[in-house]
Amino acid sequence: CSGGGLLVYSDSSPSKRTLTADGQEIKKKKVVVLGSGWSGYSFLSHFNNPNYDVQVVSPRNFFLFTPLLPSVTNGTVEARSIVEPIRGLMRKKGFEYTEAECVKIDPSNKKIHCKSKDSTSLKGTTEFDMDYDILVIAVGAKPNTFNTPGVEEHAHFLKEADDALKIRRSVINCFERASLPDLTEEERKKILHFVVVGGGPTGVEFSAELHDFLVEDVAKIYPKVQEFTRITLLEAGDHILNMFDKRITAFAEEKFQRDGIDLKTKNMVVGVTADEISTKERGSGEVVSEPYGMVVWSTGIGSRPVIKDFMHQIGQGQRRVLATDEWLREDIAAIFGKADKGETGTLNKKEFKGVVKDICQRYPQVELYLKKKKLRNIANLLKSANGDNTELSIETFKQALSEVDTQMKNLPATAQVASQQGKYLAKCFNKMEKCEKKPEGPLRFRGEGRHRFQPFRYRHFGSFAPLGGEQTAAELPGDWVSIGHSSQWLWYSVYASKLVSWRTRSLVVSDWVRRFIFGRDSSS
Ligand code: FAD
Ligand code: MG
Ligand code: MG
Ligand code: MG
Ligand code: MG
Repeated sequence: CSGGGLLVYSDSSPSKRTLTADGQEIKKKKVVVLGSGWSGYSFLSHFNNPNYDVQVVSPRNFFLFTPLLPSVTNGTVEARSIVEPIRGLMRKKGFEYTEAECVKIDPSNKKIHCKSKDSTSLKGTTEFDMDYDILVIAVGAKPNTFNTPGVEEHAHFLKEADDALKIRRSVINCFERASLPDLTEEERKKILHFVVVGGGPTGVEFSAELHDFLVEDVAKIYPKVQEFTRITLLEAGDHILNMFDKRITAFAEEKFQRDGIDLKTKNMVVGVTADEISTKERGSGEVVSEPYGMVVWSTGIGSRPVIKDFMHQIGQGQRRVLATDEWLREDIAAIFGKADKGETGTLNKKEFKGVVKDICQRYPQVELYLKKKKLRNIANLLKSANGDNTELSIETFKQALSEVDTQMKNLPATAQVASQQGKYLAKCFNKMEKCEKKPEGPLRFRGEGRHRFQPFRYRHFGSFAPLGGEQTAAELPGDWVSIGHSSQWLWYSVYASKLVSWRTRSLVVSDWVRRFIFGRDSSS
């Protein structure tokens, strides 16, 4: 549930009763959906089962296309262009929407407690309770500061549309402030020192966008202070983009070096004050403080307080993220049984090959796991579990895969995962009548000519890391890596196609065209 998560919470209970036109009583269960982000919006757009009342609760009445959020920070794309109001979808689908935040889940009474804030006036907050039969939790995650002192107060986050706009205003304000008369060189250098914390995809992309802005636009607009600008990218680990292929990491690090971005790996931020940021170098343990003009914090995500509280209530207080049901474990026996053609209870070499193929087809995310463990393929994993035996028993098989199973639920916190989960869950609901007897999952028609339950399967279509200067690194399934201008065009087309509506698509494309022709807007 952290960042790319979704959860259904229900147990059987009386539901609302309504009457049809001819006076017959029909039962309609109330599905309450928390959140209108990637998983929530995807769930809602694929949901179409008229036997449910759907009620959405989210503090923001729009969906935000987060992959383009870094482009908003420098005005390449306007915030409005990547926002899709959800009222339109609500009307089309006949769903209800309430603009509020859920602050407490009460599973024993099947109630949620909500607060609605009026952000445009000082009228304050309104609180209310809401009943549900089934609760769909899609509230996403919040930025994680790891309790580093001063971060909450002095750093910017990059998570919501407002964050990106604030960053944009702040960058331009830095340049206006640095251009004031009577400042010393030191003062100008301090104001124009931009620090990005976190070398993950968001921190890297933001650094690249900021660098492009400085080189392509600021140099023209603020020529007098341009020489004082500096970007520092801080990363606690050994490398930036460590979830990507090594070739991409190396390319990105070299490009940043060439671009003059000050990349400091193995450096952990230990505190931020109004004027200075302090880092501790791993190894030497030396703490250094440097003056800065602006800090952007992008080190990862954590669970929201409402989810932490809920986990506590349902006995998952010790976990980092909310756990959902296991699927692979149940599938293992079936996969094994199918492969064990001679029904010997063990797999020989040939059967073993079949099982490897089957697992890779069914669970593309196994690939992600193996990569993390630096194993080339699943065959190696099974071999290492089986020692010198030529026959593989189901116990060894289960053991080898059980770690993969627990790891696989920690799918990457990406929009790609969240939207697929939303769609999957909507399909479960759409087939709910058929699934009622077996509520664990959706029905799917398979070749064998009978219904069979299928667990959620993530399909990884690849990932991009935009690196600035019209260059992007792309890592596509099958170990395919491409870096440069051609992948930038692939990036443009993939993201344009993923935008949720023709309205946002045309807005974004015209923003891109505008930027190519006129450059970026530099007003704050
Ligand atoms: P979210 O999309 O965050 O949605 C959460 C929703 O819940 C929001 O509508 C929120 O308002 C609402 N909510 C919050 N609290 C409550 C509450 N208490 N009650 C009710 N509703 C609540 N992923 C990619 O795959 N590719 C990318 O290129 C990419 N780029 C990114 C760039 C940035 C800058 C960021 C921040 C993220 C990026 N991601 C990317 C990650 C992606 O955005 C997340 O993985 C995804 O948003 C997770 O979806 P979600 O539905 O779980 O949460
Ligand atoms: Mg999120
Ligand atoms: Mg969501
Ligand atoms: Mg979102
Ligand atoms: Mg991105």
